[in-house]
Amino acid sequence: MAKKNKLTFSKLVKKADRVCSEYIRRRDEGICCTCANKFNWKYGGDCGHWIPKTNSNWGARYDERNMNFQCQPCNRYKKPVDDYAAFMEKRYGKNVMAELRSQKVWTLERFANTRLGGDVLGEKDALLFIIDYYDEQLKELNKKKISPNRRRCDFAKAYKILRGCQKDFDDDNMTYKEETDKVGLISLCKEIAKEW
Ligand SMILES: [Zn+2]
Repeated sequence: MAKKNKLTFSKLVKKADRVCSEYIRRRDEGICCTCANKFNWKYGGDCGHWIPKTNSNWGARYDERNMNFQCQPCNRYKKPVDDYAAFMEKRYGKNVMAELRSQKVWTLERFANTRLGGDVLGEKDALLFIIDYYDEQLKELNKKKISPNRRRCDFAKAYKILRGCQKDFDDDNMTYKEETDKVGLISLCKEIAKEW
């Protein structure tokens, strides 16, 4: 903690932006909120803000409802404001849009305490809190997501089991072995097959 505190305000902002961006891009799985096309979450887009991330909008900058995956052409050049508003209304509703508009003038401290359940004093502490908060979110998300490699292994295993070849399996690495898992296996196979 002490080490982190030595960072300047603007460095902490950059760090918070970075962790939020990764979390949002992974959360939305690369689907652009304004053109609905699918991109690689890692390289194909940005964390796009509905209420722009200017210095007068600190209270909305790190609200996860205000941050959504947006492809680079949409976020950087086209800037389809109407499409973003339509997306916001559909995904979160008018009340949330009104909330975001009214909270955008909040300080970071007020945002962290009110929206993220923090108990911080001052803007730098608020940023540290926000960074930790989204770090945690990201960890949770990573736990749930399966890497492409792992999915390929799962698919191979699932396929073998479905074909009734359980005996070929290395028991140590076996994730699915019971009959009761079959429904799950079939849906897993279908899901992975879609990605191929
Ligand atoms: Zn787009």
